[in-house]
Amino acid sequence: MKIIDLRSDTVTSPCPAMRAAMAAAEVGDDVYGEDPTVRRLESVAAEMLGTEAALFVTSGTQSNLLAIMTHCGRGDEYIAGQTAHCYRFEGGGAAVLGGVQPQPIDVEADGTLDLEKVCAAIKPVDPHFARTRLLCLENTQAGRALPLDYLGRARALAREKGLAFHLDGARLFNAAVALGVEPWLIAGHFDSVSVCLSKGLGAPVGSLLCGGGEFVAEARRWRKMLGGGMRQAGVLAAAGIVALGGNVARLAEDHANARRLADGLSAIKGVAVLPPGARTNMVFLCIHSGLERPLASFLREKGILVAGRESIRLVTHRDVTAEDIDRVVAAFGDFSRTL
Ligand SMILES: *Cc1c(COP(=O)(O)O)cnc(C)c1O
Repeated sequence: MKIIDLRSDTVTSPCPAMRAAMAAAEVGDDVYGEDPTVRRLESVAAEMLGTEAALFVTSGTQSNLLAIMTHCGRGDEYIAGQTAHCYRFEGGGAAVLGGVQPQPIDVEADGTLDLEKVCAAIKPVDPHFARTRLLCLENTQAGRALPLDYLGRARALAREKGLAFHLDGARLFNAAVALGVEPWLIAGHFDSVSVCLSKGLGAPVGSLLCGGGEFVAEARRWRKMLGGGMRQAGVLAAAGIVALGGNVARLAEDHANARRLADGLSAIKGVAVLPPGARTNMVFLCIHSGLERPLASFLREKGILVAGRESIRLVTHRDVTAEDIDRVVAAFGDFSRTL
């Protein structure tokens, strides 16, 4: 029985083309700047995102940390969403390792940060306060693609207030595909952008931190200090090149499968898809409280893996087909009939 893993889009295995590219990768010592495959990946990413430079890093967490440590110094502050990955899910790294304090702001229903709330959180110049230096957005935010005109308004605010502007674009390509725009149209609003290769794009490891030449040079220093200097990393970068080359446009299939899933599930008694419909490659749902665990075990018996605490999040990716979605919907139906 095929296991259908909807816990995250990080669970994909490298496809044969990726493994072949990894096996054939030309490599060198990247700490000496001598790995041609890493350099190629970095230039491909910079080109796609319209930035001067890019840095291949171990993970999205490292990428966000490098961005915060490059934009901010000890005693500075960054503003981010209350549920933003770079605030909530990165172990407090910016504070622990960078001496940079987070200022969280509630995230609005559409995934944006209310710019008036952001404005009100910026600290006056006064020795009582940390120095507010950086505004961080996330896109997609819990699967939602942020509107382009909002990005423009947020950038204008950051400029006006003298803040650097960072995007945690772990799933930026999902946002670009959902909006039908080139990735650089999103990235172009920011001073720095982090993208993940190991989410929907199917690479086994790696993220890219993209931005200006000086910014990336400084981030490279921090990466080395944090133990992220890799040697013959071309073996990994080769997978990233395949991911950026062939796996961006096909994200539309994941979005279509998420819609198919949302439509199927919303017809099942006891399952509420919240909000109605899919958000790019994610579907969020609620069932009667207390039934999350029994549901997860029921589905596991049928070879379907789901994660979630208060609400259940289902994520589609390249290893999930439309037929798999139908099997999942049928399994939810079976569960509903046991109640
Ligand atoms: C997954 C993710 C990251 C980084 O995750 P890693 O597991 O460290 O690669 C950062 N931001 C968002 C929004 C993510 O979903």
